[in-house]
Amino acid sequence: MWTEKFDLHSHSTNSDGQHSVNEVARMMADSNVDFWSLTDHDTISGWEGAKNAAEAEGIVFIPGVELTCMPGLEPNADVMKKHQRERASDAWHLLAYFPNMVFQSEQHLNFKNWLAPLGEGRVPRMVAMVEKLAELGISIDFDAVLARAGDSVGRPHLADEMVKQGYVQDRQEAFDKWIGDGKPVHISREKPSIVEACEAVHAAGGITSLAHPLYYCVDTDELMIFCRDSGVDAIECFHRSHRDSYRLQLWSAAKEASLGTTCGSDFHGMKYNQSPGRMAVPTSTLPLQLKDALTALGA
Ligand SMILES: [Zn+2]
Ligand SMILES: [Zn+2]
Repeated sequence: MWTEKFDLHSHSTNSDGQHSVNEVARMMADSNVDFWSLTDHDTISGWEGAKNAAEAEGIVFIPGVELTCMPGLEPNADVMKKHQRERASDAWHLLAYFPNMVFQSEQHLNFKNWLAPLGEGRVPRMVAMVEKLAELGISIDFDAVLARAGDSVGRPHLADEMVKQGYVQDRQEAFDKWIGDGKPVHISREKPSIVEACEAVHAAGGITSLAHPLYYCVDTDELMIFCRDSGVDAIECFHRSHRDSYRLQLWSAAKEASLGTTCGSDFHGMKYNQSPGRMAVPTSTLPLQLKDALTALGA
C-alpha cells in the first residue's frame, strides 16, 4: 500500500525556507498531509512553533532536523554522468526524526546541546577566528564584529571590522590574505560524520534517513552498505528531485539491505516553484516508529 499522508522533509524561515512554520503547517494541511516533519538545516528552533501550528491545523507534527554531515563516500564519475550532474555535493544531509520526543526532556536538551555548535556554531567559530587573528598580531574586538551582524554573524562582518581597524584595505584583501577558505585564519564549519550524527540521534531516541542520495552521485549498492554499516535507519528514496526509475532502484536496494524508506518534498517555498506534500511512499517500508504514528492515528 502507498500513502501520500507523509511529508517528512520541509524548511521554514528558521533555516533557508521562505515561509514561517505557521504558513508551512497550513500549506501541508491544505495538501492533505497528515504527518508533517519540519527539517530545518542544523537547527531545531522551529519545533515549538511547528508543534503548535500543526495542532491548530489538526495534523501530526514529527520533530525533525536535516543535519549537515561529512560525505560518506567519494562521488563516482559514472554515476555523475548517468544522472547528468556536474558535481556531487560536498556535504551529505542526514534527516533525523523524533516522533516520540518529549519537549524539554533530558533527551531533548542533550540533543539540542549536541546540535548547538553545528548549526548555531557561527558565534563560537567567530570567537575562534578572532583568537587566531590575535595570535597573528591582528587584534579585533569580538563584540564589534558581533555588533555588525544581525542574527547570524559571518566572515564578511569580520572582514569589515578588519578594514575599519586598518589591517586590510578591503573585504577582498581580508579574505585573500586571512579568512578565505584555506587561508591561515579560516576555520571551516564543524561537520559530524554520518556515524557520529546517527549516534547522537539514536541517543535522543530518534531515527535517521539519508536525504536525497541523488546529490551524492554514488553507486546505489555501495551506498546501501555504507548506510547500513553506519547506523542509518532509512533512505529518502522518494525525494522530489528523484525520477521514478531512481526512486524504485533505491527502494529495492534499501529493502535488500533491510533499510527503511522515507519521502520528502524538501519544500523551501512557493517562490522556488515548489509545493508541499503529495509524495507517495510505500507504507510497508516506512521506519517502524513512523509506521506506529500511522497506526496510532488509525489511518
Ligand atoms: Zn538537503
Ligand atoms: Zn532539505
